Amino acid sequence: MTKALYLEDSYVRECDATVVSVKDGKYVVLDQSLFYPKGGGQPWDTGMMTKGDETYNVVYVGKFSGKISHEVDQAGLTEGDKVRCVLDWERRYKLMRSHTAAHVFASLLCTGTGALVTGNQLEEDKVRFDFSLEDFDREILQKYIDDANELFRKDIPVKWYELPREEALSIPGVVKMAEALPPHIPALRIVDVVGVDRQADGGTHVKNLKEVGQIEFIKAQNKGKHNRRVYFKLVD
Ligand SMILES: [Zn+2]
Repeated sequence: MTKALYLEDSYVRECDATVVSVKDGKYVVLDQSLFYPKGGGQPWDTGMMTKGDETYNVVYVGKFSGKISHEVDQAGLTEGDKVRCVLDWERRYKLMRSHTAAHVFASLLCTGTGALVTGNQLEEDKVRFDFSLEDFDREILQKYIDDANELFRKDIPVKWYELPREEALSIPGVVKMAEALPPHIPALRIVDVVGVDRQADGGTHVKNLKEVGQIEFIKAQNKGKHNRRVYFKLVD
């Protein structure tokens, strides 16, 4: 198991780590990592590892059997090496903002319309949502975008903590945005937009809604009789 530093503190931008293993010269496992691996609708982090004056760019990060595997752009690292890891913070912070925005938008939409989220994917420059909803028009979506923006002007904290599985799963809608039910582990990580939304979630978020800024509607599409797809993005 790689210790995942981003789960406790999503604001850690740099850390030291030790190389645990290297496969095919460029798939590096560390004892601890601040790089988020692709999953749960959130893209992987990028950045770099340095060893002395050598720089290895981290181009892809995935999680396999509890190990976080970092794909670097060149061979040269070996087991036991000490490296300094630096996150591409600009990319990550945007993802933290849009991920948090996604919680708020989905919560307002689902609560207000009874829609169910059927899919969700963050991209670097936009957020995609799929949901099932019969009645649907642009004005309805715009209303929830506006309502979300109202909340992003407020000082509302976002917290994350673990809860025992049973207790977590008793929260209504707690797996709304998950791709599937959480794995069978005794405790679930809960992301709590206080008073707005609580989700079982392993991603990275900002700690206050004010950090999100504002979002804007991009477009909506019909994807079958009851399935809708909507895109929004951060206003920068
Ligand atoms: Zn989340």
